[in-house]
Amino acid sequence: MLKDKDRIFKNLYNDLGWEIENSIKRGDWENTDKILSKEKENIIQEIKDSELRGRGGAGFPTGLKLSFAPKVIGSRPHYLVINADESEPGTCKDRDILRFEPQKLIEGCLIAGYAVGAHTCYIYIRGEYYREGERLQKAIDQAYKKNFLGKNACGSKWNFDIYIHFGAGAYICGEETALLESLEGNKGQPRLKPPFPALVGLYGCPTIVNNVETIAVLPTIMRRGAKWFASLGRPKNTGTKIFCISGNVNYPCNVEEEMGVKLKDLIEEHAGGVIGGWNNLQAVIPGGSSMPLLPKNVCETITMDFDSLIKEKSGLGTAGIVVINKDQDIIKSIARIAKFYKHESCGQCTPCREGCGWMWRILERMSEGESNYNEIDLLYNVTKQIEGHTICAFGEGSSWPVQGLLRHFRKEIEKRSHEEPLIKKKADIPYLVDQHLLEKENA
Ligand code: SF4
Repeated sequence: MLKDKDRIFKNLYNDLGWEIENSIKRGDWENTDKILSKEKENIIQEIKDSELRGRGGAGFPTGLKLSFAPKVIGSRPHYLVINADESEPGTCKDRDILRFEPQKLIEGCLIAGYAVGAHTCYIYIRGEYYREGERLQKAIDQAYKKNFLGKNACGSKWNFDIYIHFGAGAYICGEETALLESLEGNKGQPRLKPPFPALVGLYGCPTIVNNVETIAVLPTIMRRGAKWFASLGRPKNTGTKIFCISGNVNYPCNVEEEMGVKLKDLIEEHAGGVIGGWNNLQAVIPGGSSMPLLPKNVCETITMDFDSLIKEKSGLGTAGIVVINKDQDIIKSIARIAKFYKHESCGQCTPCREGCGWMWRILERMSEGESNYNEIDLLYNVTKQIEGHTICAFGEGSSWPVQGLLRHFRKEIEKRSHEEPLIKKKADIPYLVDQHLLEKENA
């Protein structure tokens, strides 16, 4: 379990106050000018040495990402963009940073902005986080008043400004290039890559996009050192992480813990256990709705870090842990997730646009006991035709939860399936046209 002295987010529950004076008492903005007196390369090297990996879902090494910004600022300005479009179901960690630890994010923006040569930072925040955005704006204003931002920010001779931009509620705007499109005032749809944002990003300029939590831990890493951060967790899976635990637990919560903590400990110690007891556990989604679920036997021993979860064919994602107990219909639960992705597909790629609807419709039929055996493999084929065949990772994010269900709960689906299609009149394409579902879809 994480020791208090190693905790980064000391005000995660707002016991100590979010205002800048309280943050300063907790150690924020301490010696920031000294950090900024270092060469940019040295700051990036320190972050690389800490082995910090992005906290937004993909787990890409942060230091490496920052190093992709061109070393020399040419005719095009550099931008830093913070992804606060936290939309992954089961995830609400950035929300608590925005409202209770905003100075950590603001200070992190200054450090990261300086390291990548950006004088301007945009924080793209989901529209539903209106109150959180208001709070963040107040925190930014407080930082300006103290001269921590603006001209000669924090006495660093580096000019740095932060602007907030509210999104309009589309999940796909959490994908970095869709986010940039939206920020530019266009429809939020992902761009083809390459070119990558580090070279051609916002307004065609070099842009580094990072998640809120990733940037918010940078000041502590710079103050306490890469070695300290790397001493927590496991090699290549270092540091602390905010886990969001929800679903069928007694006390849903956010908690900061060491990477590599046992999933069972998180649920039992921090979230008050599974409703109905541990033996009532059916499955856990470990990293937000786009990650494949884990059955109970895996949940007994699995540790929460990037590499352990990949070994189990799942992923840490956003660390949004959704606990599903035996009171839930597991097929219906995944059908609900599939419906979400069908609704949120931006529609650019045919496999995603059409496939997400297919998956949802088949899953609905399966949950109602209206499907036949053949459709189980058909469903798997649909997921495979989406995965890896789309512009952005939404394709994987929508098909992986369904693959997880098929991998671990195939027997459950078989139990409800029939050897022959039940809807004879639509037997030629039963999974495509189902008026009842289409009506539901359009409702
Ligand atoms: Fe849009 Fe889906 Fe293609 Fe991503 S994968 S660009 S969300 S259609």
